[in-house]
Amino acid sequence: MDISVVVPLYNEEESLPELTDWIRRVMLANNFSYEIILVDDGSKDNSWKVILDLKKSHEQISGIKFRRNYGKSAALNVGFAATQGDVVITMDADLQDSPDEIPELYDRIMNQGADLVSGWKQKRYDPLTKTIPTKLFNSVTRSVSGIHNLHDFNCGLKAYKKDVVKSIEVYGEMHRYIPVIAKWAGFTHIQEQVVQHYPRKYGTTKFGPGRFVKGFLDLMSIFFVGKFGKRPMHFFGPVGVVSFLIGFFITFYLICEKLMSIANGTPYRNVTDQPLFYLSLLAIMIGTQLFLTGFIAELLSRNSSERNKYHIERVV
Ligand code: UDP
Ligand code: MG
Repeated sequence: MDISVVVPLYNEEESLPELTDWIRRVMLANNFSYEIILVDDGSKDNSWKVILDLKKSHEQISGIKFRRNYGKSAALNVGFAATQGDVVITMDADLQDSPDEIPELYDRIMNQGADLVSGWKQKRYDPLTKTIPTKLFNSVTRSVSGIHNLHDFNCGLKAYKKDVVKSIEVYGEMHRYIPVIAKWAGFTHIQEQVVQHYPRKYGTTKFGPGRFVKGFLDLMSIFFVGKFGKRPMHFFGPVGVVSFLIGFFITFYLICEKLMSIANGTPYRNVTDQPLFYLSLLAIMIGTQLFLTGFIAELLSRNSSERNKYHIERVV
């Protein structure tokens, strides 16, 4: 199979008929063999019924239904697991992304050596309250991740080489950082493609302003998990040891100072009378704690397979 299209959706009943029809037209025009995997992320409207109806006349459609709303990342994650195509395309359900971009995305993966191609909504149809924080967000992500050629990390329209989606795991709000996760997984050929972006046709956005806070925390965790996730001790260990040593040497110095004064017969201060002594004790204790925290993190990191459990209600 050439292409798998994965569409995460939450309450998008009005858009689905148009979206799937549009995808079909593009696929037929280009002679692609394809599947469309619609992941219903616990919709409360009739989205699932619409999916069942569409499937009757469009055999390339398959549906996965979550029992409740787990978020876009979880929906993408199960969608990825189900794909069979050589190239996987993700797009939002709300008709803001255009299926007309698919042939070029496919070509970049198959013929131009890209592992991942991310859409860039250069001219986007969203309110300023969203586009301004988004700009800031993208520039922070660029510098933290070192992926300097992307302008729009969170674009819903992306294409992946099959290996990429089979190797990465997305949870929390991590869908915003898939290029970063892919890079950490060793897929370095990351490209960008300017794509059309349309205003939302039906319904309203499913993400509130809290998206940026959550997204930022997730970015920090990606950075630390990516860098130290497998060896948390490499982060906590050195900080703990340095803190411990600073405390140790200050105490050592204070004791030596006292002994020297006694030996020389000059007046001296008790070690315990000096504030510096208590600071150094604190440094020793904090250092020990950090070291032990690293040790515990090290143990936990061997047992983190729990975070991606979903309850799938039906698959058709
Ligand atoms: N979505 C989802 N689960 C959620 C929230 C959103 O699957 O909990 C889907 C949504 O239906 C759409 C895509 O993710 O297909 C992008 O959402 P939306 O259009 O609301 O985001 P925006 O375009 O405002 O960034
Ligand atoms: Mg949208």
